[in-house]
Amino acid sequence: SEGGEAMDFTQSHLWQQRADAVILGGVNSPSRSFKSVGGGTPVVMARAQGSRFVDVDGNTYIDYLAAYGPLVLGHAHPRVMEALRAATYDGILYGTPTTWEVEFAETLRAAIPDLERVRFVNSGTEAVMTTIRVARGATGRNKILKFAGCYHGHSDAVLVAAGSGPSSIGVPDSAGVTRAIAGEVITVPYNDLEAYDEALAVHGEDLAAVLVEPIVGNFGIVPPERPDYLAEVIARAHRVGALVIFDEVITAFRFHYGTAAQLYGVHADLYALGKIIGGGLPIGAYGGRRDVMESVAPLGPVYQAGTMAGNPASMRTGLACLEVLRDPAVYRHMDRLGAALEQGILASAQRHGVAITINRVGGAFTVFFGSHRVRDYAGAQATDGRRFAALFHALLRRGVFIAPSKYEAWFVSAQHTDADIEETLAAVDASFAEMAAT
Ligand code: PMP
Repeated sequence: SEGGEAMDFTQSHLWQQRADAVILGGVNSPSRSFKSVGGGTPVVMARAQGSRFVDVDGNTYIDYLAAYGPLVLGHAHPRVMEALRAATYDGILYGTPTTWEVEFAETLRAAIPDLERVRFVNSGTEAVMTTIRVARGATGRNKILKFAGCYHGHSDAVLVAAGSGPSSIGVPDSAGVTRAIAGEVITVPYNDLEAYDEALAVHGEDLAAVLVEPIVGNFGIVPPERPDYLAEVIARAHRVGALVIFDEVITAFRFHYGTAAQLYGVHADLYALGKIIGGGLPIGAYGGRRDVMESVAPLGPVYQAGTMAGNPASMRTGLACLEVLRDPAVYRHMDRLGAALEQGILASAQRHGVAITINRVGGAFTVFFGSHRVRDYAGAQATDGRRFAALFHALLRRGVFIAPSKYEAWFVSAQHTDADIEETLAAVDASFAEMAAT
């Protein structure tokens, strides 16, 4: 399109300077920096509505970041806002049981029968961290197997070969995570049952759990290659006595009203949830098999607690969000727009001689710069980050906001429109034209 070359970022620059002086690195989460797209000042947002947000300079963007996943309904969805307003009339926090947490747990269980018992926490990090403790407590074993490049939050055990933020900024293992902890985490490539079997043969007897993103979202969108992949991962883990934890923080309610496990007809022992289920407010949840969950306090010896856990506002916005998502038309809409974007972006790339591959599931997809099929972390690493950075900045200048990392996804929301897609594809075409010329 006409470029937006005149876009002014003065106020963002000024706010980022103030941020740099008080907030470590100027951001409250490293992926928000533009470090992995060659630098530049992160844009400071001011307000949002529907499919768009507006920065402090008044520039408007079509939003495909979706706050890294939660905003499946887009910004300020009327039903969610109504629930949030209602929540503020009744006081914010009690530190006691409430009716909303019961209704919300019932709603989740009805959607995901595998959640025989559930607990609410405040983030995906907490949810995953606790499932690992539960698995260790329930099995009496120590080791965890995870898949290279999968990101499971920032608790110690899972900051080993983690994707997303850590891989983008080149910190595969975090300082401060002890060797002893890293030594209890086994990593194998995703989509590779041979490597998995080898790891099970060596470590099987010590494995408390296998932890997996059933459809990967953290080195880009990468689904299982074989339709029976997840079933095999589960069956082989169970054969050595390990539990299976599905990290569905990104995937739950992303593609349909339920989990990725349900899409593949499989059952994990434990699930970690977050993001979408809070409707945009802080949330996490974990749950699963009743016998395993009963190892948690006050029924069992595994400890987990939280002052803000099950807070009424998150319960009520979460309930409102799930109510909207019950309508399958919402998912059909996102899938249709996702397909239109995929086709349009591929056609544009071909027109301008830019080599890309797109992995898409429903309204979520990743544009990889490379002509190989991306099926694991190594494949995602081998894609061209410089070209991705060029696309990111070219789109930003044209009012299209995608996550500032080649390892993230574009998320279409329920409030994106056909007009948004058209405008986005024009911006993509102009961006590829610009990239082909340089
Ligand atoms: N698991 C997965 C699969 C995630 O994508 C994320 C966040 N991107 C987390 C866990 C951690 O969630 P949170 O940021 O809410 O702690």
